[in-house]
Amino acid sequence: MIVFAGVHFMAETAKILNPTKKVVIPDFKAGCSLSDSCPPPLFQKFKEQHPDHVVVSYINCSAGIKALSDVIVTSSNARIIVDSFPEDQKIIFAPDKNLGAYINKVTGRDMLLWNGACMVHEIFSLEKITKLQQQHPNAKFIAHPECEEPVLKMADFVGSTTGLLKYTMENDATEFIVATETGILHQMEKASPTKKFIPAPPDNGCACNDCPHMKRNTLEKIYLCMKYELPDIIMDEELRLAAKKPIDKMLEISKAAGL
Ligand code: SF4
Repeated sequence: MIVFAGVHFMAETAKILNPTKKVVIPDFKAGCSLSDSCPPPLFQKFKEQHPDHVVVSYINCSAGIKALSDVIVTSSNARIIVDSFPEDQKIIFAPDKNLGAYINKVTGRDMLLWNGACMVHEIFSLEKITKLQQQHPNAKFIAHPECEEPVLKMADFVGSTTGLLKYTMENDATEFIVATETGILHQMEKASPTKKFIPAPPDNGCACNDCPHMKRNTLEKIYLCMKYELPDIIMDEELRLAAKKPIDKMLEISKAAGL
């Protein structure tokens, strides 16, 4: 049994890869605004309008979107996987328009972007970040590529969650302003206990930027889902196999690239 204390698409991905195991999730309502911004029936129509395009999808999407994709990417391997296609290959990138725009920029491609986004990464306040930078002039500002372009332009470093963590461990700076979901700050503090990590503030009344979906996971719910082995992810086998294909493709390209 796998207990996936995350959001629904993550538990679904675990089920796609582990069909013989029971995959339980502490709160079935733990969704994802990014995944929800790309409903499979609408995306299917969009795809049909562009039959000469291959579909590259960020792993933060539903099994239905994975099943409509040619290859899945993470924020760590997106650039290498997009680069593995011939330069003239037309590509649709889904569901995150910000990550897609960032990959377009670093690869020089012109991928067609699905208009989806993550609510957590879309509401960072440039004004508040600038103020924080003035208060902490030696702090490095680091951001996840799901953030909007103006935020990424200000960043000293842009990277995946793992990339950001590694950067904070290896960089000599002692203060970091971090623009991504705040859950990673705990790991950063554990890895570098003498350094200071400041969550980049959103454009609302809060001081930090929590994902309300991730935060549905509580110790009590984890205990209950382990005790009752519910709720579990049930997936149609045809959908599972179709969704697994682009994940296998990602693993194959990553392996060939030595990742
Ligand atoms: S932070 Fe939350 S809403 Fe955003 S992509 Fe992650 S799970 Fe989805």
